[in-house]
Amino acid sequence: MPFRTIPRDAWDHLLEGNQRFATDTSVHPHSGSSRREELRTGQAPFAAVLACSDSRVPVEMLFDAGLGDLFVVRTAGGCVDAAVTGSLEFAVTTLGVSLIVVLSHEECGAIGAAVSSFEEGDLPSDLTRVFVEKIAPSVIRAKRDGHEERSAIEEIHAAETAEHLVHRIPPVQARIADGSLGVVAARYRLEDGRVTSVEEHFAG
Ligand SMILES: [Zn+2]
Repeated sequence: MPFRTIPRDAWDHLLEGNQRFATDTSVHPHSGSSRREELRTGQAPFAAVLACSDSRVPVEMLFDAGLGDLFVVRTAGGCVDAAVTGSLEFAVTTLGVSLIVVLSHEECGAIGAAVSSFEEGDLPSDLTRVFVEKIAPSVIRAKRDGHEERSAIEEIHAAETAEHLVHRIPPVQARIADGSLGVVAARYRLEDGRVTSVEEHFAG
């Protein structure tokens, strides 16, 4: 199956699953006991996804994927730390995924907190501060480029995060260059269930 090894095909495969999800025609692949049995000896997911922990963004569901298909990392706001980069590097170098998707979403509370903090010029002193600090570069970039709408800031956060991963994880950069890996920044809309591409890093 070419989508397992060809980055652009992997992305198309995910978009096809999202099309089914958005139109209430999900087929729930790889969800039964036989698949579970098949996976007892190991996993070979074809894509890794970094998404927000928001309960409205269940990654396997919105791509109509099943057991063993996706290596998913979720943090509030899709924020990146050493554990996140380590997890994604593991997905690339050990599991051999052909695609990393960085997925932001409509009405992201963590991004909203970062925007408020920026606009009010005030850093929260509670636990949300860590997310505000991580998301601040995306907000600054959006404002610099004249974007005020939340949707645009959410898209820029996905793009900024994807670029961060490409530049900071050497095996990711190397595999994009040799064509064995793609990195896509995308945004999920609660409104209609659609995932749309924001920025794509593919060889050539
Ligand atoms: Zn969120």
